[in-house]
Amino acid sequence: FGGLNAVAALRRRIPEAKVLCVDLHKEPGGSWSDYYDYVRLHARHPSFGVSGHKWHFNDPTILAPRDDVLYHFKSFVNSMPPSYSFSGETEFLRVAEKTSSEYPLHVILRRDDAGEYDVQARHVINATGFFYSGHMTASEDPHNDGSSKQLEWGTSDVSRLLQECDDSTRPRTYVVVGGGKTGIDTACYLSQHKRVEDDLVLIEGRSKLFLNRERVFPDKANLSIWNPTLPEIYLDMILGWDGTNSKERMAEFRDRGILHSVVNPDATSYMFAHLGASEKDLVRSSAQVISDDYFVGIEDHGSTTRIKLSSGSHLDSAKEVLLINCRTSTAEPRSGYLFDVHPVRPDGSTTFGGLLGSSGPTNYKYTLAHTQGAQVYDRLAIYGFKHTFADRQIDEHYVFQFILKGIANSLALMDVLSLEDMKS
Ligand SMILES: Cc1cc2nc3c(=O)[nH]c(=O)nc-3n(C[C@H](O)[C@H](O)[C@H](O)COP(=O)(O)OP(=O)(O)OC[C@H]3O[C@@H](n4cnc5c(N)ncnc54)[C@H](O)[C@@H]3O)c2cc1C
Repeated sequence: FGGLNAVAALRRRIPEAKVLCVDLHKEPGGSWSDYYDYVRLHARHPSFGVSGHKWHFNDPTILAPRDDVLYHFKSFVNSMPPSYSFSGETEFLRVAEKTSSEYPLHVILRRDDAGEYDVQARHVINATGFFYSGHMTASEDPHNDGSSKQLEWGTSDVSRLLQECDDSTRPRTYVVVGGGKTGIDTACYLSQHKRVEDDLVLIEGRSKLFLNRERVFPDKANLSIWNPTLPEIYLDMILGWDGTNSKERMAEFRDRGILHSVVNPDATSYMFAHLGASEKDLVRSSAQVISDDYFVGIEDHGSTTRIKLSSGSHLDSAKEVLLINCRTSTAEPRSGYLFDVHPVRPDGSTTFGGLLGSSGPTNYKYTLAHTQGAQVYDRLAIYGFKHTFADRQIDEHYVFQFILKGIANSLALMDVLSLEDMKS
């Protein structure tokens, strides 16, 4: 997402340039290659993807499934000019030296089939963005009491677990651990594919708020000029934020119906995920939802299995209990969503991280600015987190700081980019 948007900006400004995009993944699409097979975009597809590259859908309301997202990225790569290339399974190691030649950056790359090799470049844009690394595991979970001897399944196992299940398989209780976007997707998928005799439990952890999809992106029949757009909603959120009242602000937007939760009317934790009415209804009608409580472990009690919660309460199941790990998705400590640095790095490379929030627009717009030359940074105010969230708990203020820096940087970029660029 981040990397190909940087490429799209270069293509728009300097289509004749020589551009090499490298990624550890074999195919374009970054972490979408690692996400579970039933994931879909949680927002309409035009809000995601490569800037200026058309999607293959006619209906703009479609929440694109994973394979369509990957197809979109791949079709962009296939449409690149001949002097642009994508090299998968290639690792960027470092900029070894900065010289004063025409191609001053001596870049070290590595591929399994070629070992380490070097290329000379004028610019290196490190666009690793979000840099997804998986989900918090049971052993990393501070609520886990260590009593559970049972293996937890990952989201990539869910389809297989469902397929291998037939009439002879013992009835099951699927326990989805974590109630964020992944947990909701998993609960919806399980509810649609499990057998009637199987139970479904969703243990939310800290109850989440989601953007109310129908309210924020109404269909044509409900469109009105009085409906604020998402950036207007975010602006409204931070204009009333004083640095300390994050929970109160979330509660206000929840009470206005812009944010909503699956069951908990008092939830105040929001992490940018969207939820539609149909998903909410499906989870409510098919799963036992445990809100504001954490899974701590399971105990075998002979004919039943005890599912223990951090509040001290528990659920007992006489069915086979399968734990599906949907705890918080994690990013590498180097994730551009966890800390900010000035884009111009001491080794001569450039990195924009999440200065505008999402890595796609960030890399697209800052790369447009970057093509104006190094002097652009003299005119460009840049705002960022003053501390890193890699070594610090993501707390309730994170979302507001993230939105605030995104809006501040968007306004600052307007000093160096045209309105046409800002809209693109
Ligand atoms: C389950 C899930 C669903 C999501 N759904 C949405 C959604 O609907 N809408 C939305 O806007 N966001 C969504 N997100 C959040 C995020 O915006 C997207 O996942 C987005 O695709 C992230 O793109 P990225 O480029 O920032 O990071 P990544 O997709 O993580 O890409 C970083 C890439 O850099 C590569 N890399 C890292 N180091 C090196 C190196 N040294 N050399 C070469 N390559 C390297 C990695 O292999 C990776 O391919 C979702 C996240 C998750 C976990």
